[in-house]
Amino acid sequence: TFQALRVFKDAQGTVQAERQTLPVADLPQGEVTVQVTHSSLNYKDGMAVAGRPGILRRYPMTPGIDFAGTVLQDESGTYSPGETVIVTGWGVGERHDGGYATLARVPARWIVRAPEGTDAFWAMSVGTAGFTAMLAVMALEDQGLKAGEVLVTGAAGGVGSTAVALLARAGYEVTASTGRLEEADYLTGLGARHIIGREEMPALKRPMEGERWSGVVDTVGGATLAGAYASTRTHGSVAVCGLAGGAELNTTVYPMILRGVNLLGIDSVTCPTERRESAWARLAHELPAATLAPMTQERGLSELPALAQEILAGRVRGRTVIDVTR
Ligand code: NAP
Repeated sequence: TFQALRVFKDAQGTVQAERQTLPVADLPQGEVTVQVTHSSLNYKDGMAVAGRPGILRRYPMTPGIDFAGTVLQDESGTYSPGETVIVTGWGVGERHDGGYATLARVPARWIVRAPEGTDAFWAMSVGTAGFTAMLAVMALEDQGLKAGEVLVTGAAGGVGSTAVALLARAGYEVTASTGRLEEADYLTGLGARHIIGREEMPALKRPMEGERWSGVVDTVGGATLAGAYASTRTHGSVAVCGLAGGAELNTTVYPMILRGVNLLGIDSVTCPTERRESAWARLAHELPAATLAPMTQERGLSELPALAQEILAGRVRGRTVIDVTR
């Protein structure tokens, strides 16, 4: 048997989350069985555990969109028992049972080896959020970002905190936009040079505002994204990652056609394997455990229902690693 946080519908049709003991035969299809030690808390996980529609494709289901642990068995012969592996995305914790369990089973092609010198706790301190921040920075650099002021929105969150740290380390002048100005010292500690309040982002009054950002990592969407895009410098780029503030985007084509501004879509779920491996290799260098420590807290599986409410309310700072054994 193994332990899992199951999300199910009760007799009244209400979505509930509960820790359960399940037989190994309940694991889904896949070549690789992993002894999960750590998972993490992402915004999507908050939605899944809280029973918000649109994340879990069926019930009952084990949420957790990422996990790390050691290989128990691999029918494909790719991984040896005992190897430390990382899984993020591919529908794990959405349409395929996820990481909030002590055992998981997935196809071998979904797996990435933990980089040399790292462990499962490090991997989940990074997690989907840090991996997404890395993809965003890589996308901005692929479009020519080399220097200058880079804006990170939703900066005190998981993607935001890791993006601030990655960009500061790479030498950019980071501006952190946050709704929690009380976290200014925390953000400065991660390397932010300037802090601006959420409402300071110019709302989109004119199709183009003064040019300021060489690059943007946006986790908020909505009016924040529209304002950031309108004030992006000529040939600068915006890596569009999230919707913590709203999914709509009301804007014009002017920054694209008059300034050559690029809107870059980031999707960590379907990111191809080769790019995953380079992102994780870069993360091992640029986001070591010591850098992650000030932004990481560790909690247990049983605390997830409460944590889900916290992350949806925008009250979780940085990254939360889940020890699935407690
Ligand atoms: P998170 O830790 O909750 O961070 C979100 C941050 O957004 C919050 O900390 C808060 O930052 C800000 N925020 C929250 N509510 C807001 C509101 N109503 N208006 C404006 N800002 C608000 O979540 P996360 O795991 O980092 O994920 C962030 C976003 O990226 C989510 O939308 C998530 O779905 C998305 N995401 C996308 C991918 C992808 O592959 N594209 C991968 C991971 C995450 P402040 O307190 O600093 O304002």
